[in-house]
Amino acid sequence: MADLLQESVLVLNASMIAVDTCTVRRAILDILRNIAIPVKETPELVRSEHLALPVPRIIAQRNCYKIPRYDQKTSKINIIYRDDQTCAYCGNRFAVSELTVDHVIPRSRWKKTMGDHPPYDFNSWWNLVTACRRCNSLKANRLLQEIGWKLRKKPEKPRQTGLIIARNRAEDLGWLEYCSVNVQLIEAV
Ligand SMILES: [Zn+2]
Repeated sequence: MADLLQESVLVLNASMIAVDTCTVRRAILDILRNIAIPVKETPELVRSEHLALPVPRIIAQRNCYKIPRYDQKTSKINIIYRDDQTCAYCGNRFAVSELTVDHVIPRSRWKKTMGDHPPYDFNSWWNLVTACRRCNSLKANRLLQEIGWKLRKKPEKPRQTGLIIARNRAEDLGWLEYCSVNVQLIEAV
């Protein structure tokens, strides 16, 4: 039961556009408060002393038509998704758990390489790339030109993409029909 309440629910706005995900617990509260309506449910029931409700998989907000801005943070997972789980150096694709984030210009070399007015920050989209463990430890604290390596692609800030959802998760949870607008499906390994 506790696990069931922690499962994910897709949240649509009142125009039926996917805008967020939340937990089953949160979705049920929103339904009970009349803030949201269930769009898709499972045959399973969540029971409490006074009521039994089908477990929602998709809900829609009743009155909210907004599409939020998704300004992505430079987190490890966002860097890895931007790079499609592909090592910037060897070009191989790995599971997320096998990957690290590498600073193209390492901290110890930053000042000398970039000067006092760098065009971007040390911890920014332009200096962070996905690297497999092997390449990351081979590169260590060196600059690419010192070891004759090249980036396969110039790192960029990703354009606004909407919600990022793993395709297999969307399939398992029955969300796919609402994933064509404002959703970027990623092929997670
Ligand atoms: Zn690699």
